[in-house]
Amino acid sequence: MRTPRLWRVADFMRLGAFQSGMDGVLVSFLEFERWKEWVYQYAFHLTSRSASLLVLRASFDLGDQKTKWTDFLLQFLEGIHCSELQELELNWTLTHLEPVDFYPSSGTVAQICLAKTDQYNSFQTLFEKLTRSAPKLSKIKLPFDWSEHSVSLLTHFHQVHTLELNYFWVFKGVRPETMKGLTKSLPNLKTLILQVLVPVKDLGVSYPLESKSLEYLDVSQSRGLVFSCLDLPSLKELKVKKTIRGIILNRRTKLALQSRWCCLYDLMKSGTPNLQMLNAHRLLPHWRERGYTGLSEVLMQSCFCTQHTDTWLL
Ligand SMILES: [Zn+2]
Repeated sequence: MRTPRLWRVADFMRLGAFQSGMDGVLVSFLEFERWKEWVYQYAFHLTSRSASLLVLRASFDLGDQKTKWTDFLLQFLEGIHCSELQELELNWTLTHLEPVDFYPSSGTVAQICLAKTDQYNSFQTLFEKLTRSAPKLSKIKLPFDWSEHSVSLLTHFHQVHTLELNYFWVFKGVRPETMKGLTKSLPNLKTLILQVLVPVKDLGVSYPLESKSLEYLDVSQSRGLVFSCLDLPSLKELKVKKTIRGIILNRRTKLALQSRWCCLYDLMKSGTPNLQMLNAHRLLPHWRERGYTGLSEVLMQSCFCTQHTDTWLL
């Protein structure tokens, strides 16, 4: 008997859960083959019942040319129903379990670039398929490459209310217009968690963020992310952390850079009329009219402007 609605969750990460807290786990070739067998059987079990999924969780390196996880996932998506899919957690950069000999001991920069390109091309193919088959996605967690194409695919999911975009690769920068365009075009977005590592070559670039609906913004895992403008009328909670990256600059260069950056306090005053929490600090009712010690302390940990930074390092 086929009972599609009984099978609501596909969790390809659950067998690796015993190692929780670890990104990927190296195992012997035999263990890897055994796990792969489980993955195929699990997928078969769900497709043979034509499962209608609400949740899909998976972690596969889509650049893996040997096991071809992209083909596996595309085929899996063919065999199940995604029209009601609400939650997607897809780490397309990492296979949860990997055999010890998976990574070649050395790779040239060109080889690494090629492998990364393979990864995000495959991710886009898969994501394209989901834009057609899973229009109700409301919660998405992914590493994200911030290319124009990936951003345009993401904006298809109009129902998204929770979005977590994780860091993909050190050399892949984010254009300020791209970030602004993404948040503007998701009309139901309430929660946004961004892990962006701004490349050193883009030091000095700052980012505008606009959203009528956004209530919770967490960029505390980002590095080098500085805002140029915040237009977030519904925002209630902001988490932001200034991570010193150890880039040593002379005083003149540092001041030239910092003078381009707005103070976070000013941006909050003008662009977040409903803000209540900054990091773990509950803002006092008069925070907009006058600053106070508690607020200054939080700004010292989160703002890059000259007033709130007293180190030679950025
Ligand atoms: Zn400041």
